[in-house]
Amino acid sequence: AKERAPGSIAVFDATMQRRAASRLQLEGELRRSLEVGGFRLVYQPIVDSATGRPVGVEALARWTSPTRGVVSPQEFIAVAEDCGLIVELGRWVLREAVTTFAGWCAGQPETPYLTVNVSGRQLLHPGFVDDVLAVLGEAGLPPAQLGLEITESVLLQEPTRARQMLGALREAGVATLLDDFGTGYSSLSWLRQLPADALKIDRSFVQGLPGDAADASVVSAVVALGRSLGLTVIAEGVEDAAQLEALVQMGCPRVQGYLFARPVPGDEARATLFGR
Ligand code: C2E
Ligand code: CA
Ligand code: CA
Ligand code: CA
Repeated sequence: AKERAPGSIAVFDATMQRRAASRLQLEGELRRSLEVGGFRLVYQPIVDSATGRPVGVEALARWTSPTRGVVSPQEFIAVAEDCGLIVELGRWVLREAVTTFAGWCAGQPETPYLTVNVSGRQLLHPGFVDDVLAVLGEAGLPPAQLGLEITESVLLQEPTRARQMLGALREAGVATLLDDFGTGYSSLSWLRQLPADALKIDRSFVQGLPGDAADASVVSAVVALGRSLGLTVIAEGVEDAAQLEALVQMGCPRVQGYLFARPVPGDEARATLFGR
């Protein structure tokens, strides 16, 4: 063991070095992809649980690395957040999604909504509010048709500033959805002060329905909470009919998940929303 110790340190160092190099390379690829238009968006319908009709779509980013192939958003969003690229990537996502969606809605009698995921650094970046309003104005999309999905952890980092930003957007008509709801630490009194319009119940709670009593309690409590605070509630990750049935019985108004549709390219999402 005595003789091996220095060797294992060397191996450890080499592994660390490889990881750091790989990370740097990934950052470089992300940066280049932003320049050359290497990202794309897919859209997942948000559905009225009573009628099964889509009422909106969530935009989700996709990226294929030139050297690694498809990289999951979990991974590349985390890297983009760490190195600050998320501000620019988020700006691209917002502009692309709003512009595309406005194109679909032009001349249609229906007014579905679009939601876009927003990272903490992006939300707190000076100019975010102006950016969002400018993009909406240029695309000609009414602010009431846009919602921003924010996680609780983001709001906890800098609650006052986050509240200001979201409050200003809300005054303009843009909705706030609390994403992955139930996985963070929000207290009820704190929730009351938030400029939130909707709660998205995290997939991890929906998964256990209808059998898991603890999950069922959490979900029905969030549905009741939403109702009493006047917030829309959306259940994420609905994969089968039994889960849907349980959610309908609990009075959950909105659902989203593979049972209805996977995230799909724009053309397909448009057809789902407008039937053509
Ligand atoms: P999220 O915002 O919670 O998005 C929901 C994730 O669940 C998506 O994964 C979606 O494809 C997946 N999903 C939807 N329905 C089902 C289902 O029925 N079963 C299962 N197992 N999964 C389902 P995706 O697209 O891989 O995105 C992962 C996360 O990456 C997102 O979680 C979000 O936090 C982040 N993300 C994706 N696009 C963006 C973006 O443009 N900006 C930011 N800031 N984050 C993004
Ligand atoms: Ca989301
Ligand atoms: Ca979520
Ligand atoms: Ca999530």
